[in-house]
Amino acid sequence: MDTDPLVTGLTAAVGDAHVLTDPQVTAAYTTDFTRRFSGPARLVVRPADTAEVARVVGVCAEEGASIVPQGGNTGLVGGGVPRGGEVVLSLRRLASVERIDATAMQVTAGAGVPLAELQRSVRAEGLDFGVDFAARDSATIGGMIATNAGGERVLRYGTTRANVAGLEAVPADGGVLERLTGLPKDNTGYDLSGLLVGSEGTLAVITRARLRLVPRPTGRATALLALGSLDDAVSAVTELRALDSLELAEFFLADGLELVCRTSGLPAPFPRPYPVYLLVECAARHDPADELYAALDELACVEDAVVAVDRADRHRLTAYRERHTEAINSVGVPLKLDVSVPLTALAGFVEDLGSLLDSVATSYLFGHLAEGNLHVNLLGAGDRAEELTDAVLRQVAAVRGSISAEHGVGRAKARWLELSRSPTEIAAMRAVKQALDPRGLLNPGVLLPPGS
Ligand SMILES: Cc1cc2nc3c(=O)[nH]c(=O)nc-3n(C[C@H](O)[C@H](O)[C@H](O)COP(=O)(O)OP(=O)(O)OC[C@H]3O[C@@H](n4cnc5c(N)ncnc54)[C@H](O)[C@@H]3O)c2cc1C
Repeated sequence: MDTDPLVTGLTAAVGDAHVLTDPQVTAAYTTDFTRRFSGPARLVVRPADTAEVARVVGVCAEEGASIVPQGGNTGLVGGGVPRGGEVVLSLRRLASVERIDATAMQVTAGAGVPLAELQRSVRAEGLDFGVDFAARDSATIGGMIATNAGGERVLRYGTTRANVAGLEAVPADGGVLERLTGLPKDNTGYDLSGLLVGSEGTLAVITRARLRLVPRPTGRATALLALGSLDDAVSAVTELRALDSLELAEFFLADGLELVCRTSGLPAPFPRPYPVYLLVECAARHDPADELYAALDELACVEDAVVAVDRADRHRLTAYRERHTEAINSVGVPLKLDVSVPLTALAGFVEDLGSLLDSVATSYLFGHLAEGNLHVNLLGAGDRAEELTDAVLRQVAAVRGSISAEHGVGRAKARWLELSRSPTEIAAMRAVKQALDPRGLLNPGVLLPPGS
């Protein structure tokens, strides 16, 4: 029998089947999706509900054990895996979607519900959740809220923040903060739920969420456009934004498409390669194909285009963009930098990036064009990873961009936070952290720069 008081306390809280200590069993929880971040866990604990999460956090507080909250472990900045010796608190068993409130157009879901599961539940009622992205089968609602995930539909529905109406969470002392009424009007003080969105597990463990839903569009039309330059892609999106039904505008480049086709076996979408590709999708309660065709006809910069309305054909087109992450992962361990820059600076930024990176690493760029959100993926950075991260993030800061557009700061970028946040802002963040987690037990080393 284990005599470690932490193990004994946690076993009493959740049952011994859900306290995992065998490194072979915990391995899936200790390395991130990219394989760049990993570390041993003291143990993994898997509570089933809010009460058990509160007991787990209480036991950890008593024993002075640090906690890494974890959802689907699809995060890309190393925030959800241990650095060495923390307790990994997996939320995946908090996986129930409660009754859908069609009148308020809201639903309450457990932190461990995967995005795809939420989508299945609400779509059956003619509704949808505004946030969507390629990791939908594994990424959880709690992880999405903790990272304020963005994804493919931000241009229409905003980031996760805009789609959260309230939260339930357990702060470091093991209490329960509950704000799940979802009232659209409720001006009774600080917005504690809002504070936890994007807090990356450093302020509290999110257990349930009240989510806003949108009417599910029944008609969809998708187009893949071949273009000569990023400037052309930016102009095309600017024009297409006149369409109320525009929901998605994603870009990728010739080398990324070539890699996706080579590693996935997908056929090339056009008879010859083009420098830039733009994937757009319109969605509405009617068939938006005609308005998309008409808008494309007006775009002089388009060199070739393919339009799909049938579901299978649309999925074939979106796969060229969505398979970038797995294609890059299949040929190496990438250094991933998710940044955003003002749209007017995008083309020049990418050109400067080429001069900086081309001789030292293989880079693949793609992203969410309407938000100037660029995923910079570098292969072969080797022991120059730190130096290249520094150079790229400084270049982002120089054009007044953000060093993290949607993946969060995590461990990967904590030391560069000052490039996007002022000393006064960082001091205010430290004060909030000190108030909610005075002993620094929740996700130490994540988000705030070293020294916090
Ligand atoms: C193929 C692929 C595509 C992706 N595309 C996008 C994209 O388009 N847009 C985007 O924004 N992201 C994207 N991501 C990144 C990732 O999926 C998101 O960051 C997602 O929100 C993470 O959810 P998760 O449940 O996997 O969280 P995890 O990876 O488990 O954790 C992420 C962070 O949240 C914290 N956390 C997790 N659950 C909780 C909780 N219940 N309470 C408190 N803190 C918690 C963790 O401590 C960690 O800091 C992609 C990832 C992959 C692999």
